[in-house]
Amino acid sequence: MSTDCIFCKIVNKEIPSNFVYENEDVIAINDLHPQAETHVLVIPKIHVASLAELEDVNLMGRLLQSVKETAKAIGLTDYRTIINTGAGAGQTVFHLHIHILSGKNLKEKL
Ligand code: AMP
Ligand code: ZN
Repeated sequence: MSTDCIFCKIVNKEIPSNFVYENEDVIAINDLHPQAETHVLVIPKIHVASLAELEDVNLMGRLLQSVKETAKAIGLTDYRTIINTGAGAGQTVFHLHIHILSGKNLKEKL
């Protein structure tokens, strides 16, 4: 828990948000500024600043499992996952999260 972290506040329900999926390890919410028809963020309940700070290999596996569960729960079969690590790669919120993007126009790769 980091007191000035927006995603910790969402996890702890200090900021109201609609969880599209939740399990023991994560919550999933719609991105505030969607970059695709569907744009969901899978956010671990514990505060980890970025993938570079994540040392728990077991949790790494459970996060990917949680991505699958989230996609299934919201009815997605085809989707792209993105993790931005570090400001230079576009990370703006320093609480690890995995983007799930889906919809038309995603056939073009980055
Ligand atoms: P990143 O650039 O990978 O750090 O992604 C941060 C994402 O969080 C961006 O896509 C933002 O639009 C999104 N975001 C920031 N604040 C909120 C919020 N309060 N609720 C939902 N999404 C948010
Ligand atoms: Zn946090």
